[in-house]
Amino acid sequence: MQNRVEAAVPVLYVRDVASAQAFYALFGYEHIQTGGDGDARWSYLKGGQHTVLLACVQPALIPVELPLLIYLYVTGLGDVREQLDAAGHDYELTGYPDHAPGGELRTHDPDGNVVLVGQRTTVAADARTAPSAPEARFSLIKQAAEAISRRGGAPATCQVPTADSSPCPRPAEIKLADTWGATIWACLPHADEALINAPAAFIASEDAQGLGPWLSHRGATA
Ligand SMILES: [Zn+2]
Repeated sequence: MQNRVEAAVPVLYVRDVASAQAFYALFGYEHIQTGGDGDARWSYLKGGQHTVLLACVQPALIPVELPLLIYLYVTGLGDVREQLDAAGHDYELTGYPDHAPGGELRTHDPDGNVVLVGQRTTVAADARTAPSAPEARFSLIKQAAEAISRRGGAPATCQVPTADSSPCPRPAEIKLADTWGATIWACLPHADEALINAPAAFIASEDAQGLGPWLSHRGATA
């Protein structure tokens, strides 16, 4: 193959370019160039060989359920900690995982994006600091798993058999239920078909008026 990637530039959507610039300056990113106008502005930052593009649009984009995660490898985690302390940014020490034997910390940028910072060069066992939050590394995966489980354990494909009784290959998109509690995950065409032909069926959605929130509210006040 002739072509190969020469650089990868993460693009971060931020609410305020100046405060994001100030945060990433703590990691040595310098402001190189600014552009755009009015409702859409961008700022290009560079740290050594590495670049980050900050993008700011008005009105601000709706934040996604899972924020972006950016992982920065640095040569001196101790210096980064001093910089964060001086700037008054909170962070958690997550320990010394195999991919960052020099230590790792977790913090947030001003837009709530998760910033993990690791050091590849190892430090001696007696120079290590006890992690303040050894579980922090896993919380993002847990968050993602929780977001998936809110889909109620949706299967990958539709559970409604096709007319010739073979499995439907389309993705499961909608959970249907009836008042007796039968549920099935269906693709969009099969959900349509079920709602027309099984008039008691309805679309099961997780909302604040369901049994789950009511039960947990009773549990909390009991
Ligand atoms: Zn289907």
